[in-house]
Amino acid sequence: MTRDSLRSMKRLEELTTFRVGGPAREFLTATSESELIELVESADSSGVPLLIIGGGSNILVSDAGFAGRVIQVASKGIEVESDACSGGLITVQAGEDWDQFVSWANAEGFVGIETLAGIPGTVGAAPIQNIGAYGHEVREVIARVRSFDSRERKGVTFAVTDCDFGYRTSRFKREPDRYLILDLAFQMKQGEMSAPIQYQELADALEVSLGERAPLRQVLEATLTIRKRKGMVLDDSDRDTWSAGSFFTNPIIESALVPANAPSWPTSDGRVKVSAAWLIENAGVKRGTSHGGAAISSKHVLAITNHHGARAEEIKQLAEICSNAVREKFGIDLESEVRLFGFA
Ligand SMILES: Cc1cc2nc3c(=O)[nH]c(=O)nc-3n(C[C@H](O)[C@H](O)[C@H](O)COP(=O)(O)OP(=O)(O)OC[C@H]3O[C@@H](n4cnc5c(N)ncnc54)[C@H](O)[C@@H]3O)c2cc1C
Repeated sequence: MTRDSLRSMKRLEELTTFRVGGPAREFLTATSESELIELVESADSSGVPLLIIGGGSNILVSDAGFAGRVIQVASKGIEVESDACSGGLITVQAGEDWDQFVSWANAEGFVGIETLAGIPGTVGAAPIQNIGAYGHEVREVIARVRSFDSRERKGVTFAVTDCDFGYRTSRFKREPDRYLILDLAFQMKQGEMSAPIQYQELADALEVSLGERAPLRQVLEATLTIRKRKGMVLDDSDRDTWSAGSFFTNPIIESALVPANAPSWPTSDGRVKVSAAWLIENAGVKRGTSHGGAAISSKHVLAITNHHGARAEEIKQLAEICSNAVREKFGIDLESEVRLFGFA
């Protein structure tokens, strides 16, 4: 396949899970690491704005589209180095589908990502916001991240300790557009039982206590069942899933500022993480609230959805309605988990 055959016009609504977004001025798919680097470098050297896209499940692109080059990461490959004592070191190319990788790892008996089943997107995007769900985060199994630093124009490999992972963040998110993620190496043990269950709802479903393990396959299946109930597994026929998952992160604030009765969890820096879902609902924005074609999911107040023919602008405005309501009622600022492109 030649480069020209990969270059085409594309509307971003075809590439994002919100299914909104106007045209890309230029759209290219990169199926190898060398192609990815070449396309990023040529855009950088000619000053063309760049949008790297994986599964499009954590971005909102404007109705006007993106006036630059959009590169879809489609590099594939999984390599396993097994060691009977320590498990496996598994190197996965950035363009692999995250959920398919989780299913594969589960079937192979690799332990540690079973509660991250059902999260859409690519492996390469997973470290950017340190994806997490049901008591576990991807940083727990990452050994290293290999990247291309577009500022220094060279390859850089980060050990997990140098990735500055935190709750829904990392050095890659703090310095947006600097690092192109090429591949990830995961260190995972092999066995029949899961990592310790850390999330009450999942523990209840599995009929175990917090901290206990459960059979690997059962944990994956119970996770998917809970996620589906919340509209958190992509499903063409369920408009509650036409979203980017949670639109906001849970704010981390001083404990004195936590509203009475708000669910909250202590963080390692002495502050407290508060439930964004509770804040939004208690600021008066309910499930199903709509704004034009956009609506809050009927299953999960943190998900803003393309309910019926939404424009990107309406999704953005509904997010603002939520954050304004929370600021007015509680004096707390919500932070968007979703990255916006192409807006003024
Ligand atoms: C229904 C649903 C449920 C979700 N549930 C969860 C959840 O439980 N937990 C969670 O943490 N997230 C969740 N998400 C959010 C999302 O799936 C994750 O953040 C995912 O990792 C995004 O991957 P992606 O490939 O779609 O990234 P994209 O949306 O394509 O990109 C996201 C950002 O990463 C950048 N990027 C992508 N690939 C690369 C690369 N190779 N190198 C450098 N930059 C790159 C993009 O430029 C962009 O800034 C959910 C989303 C949906 C739609």
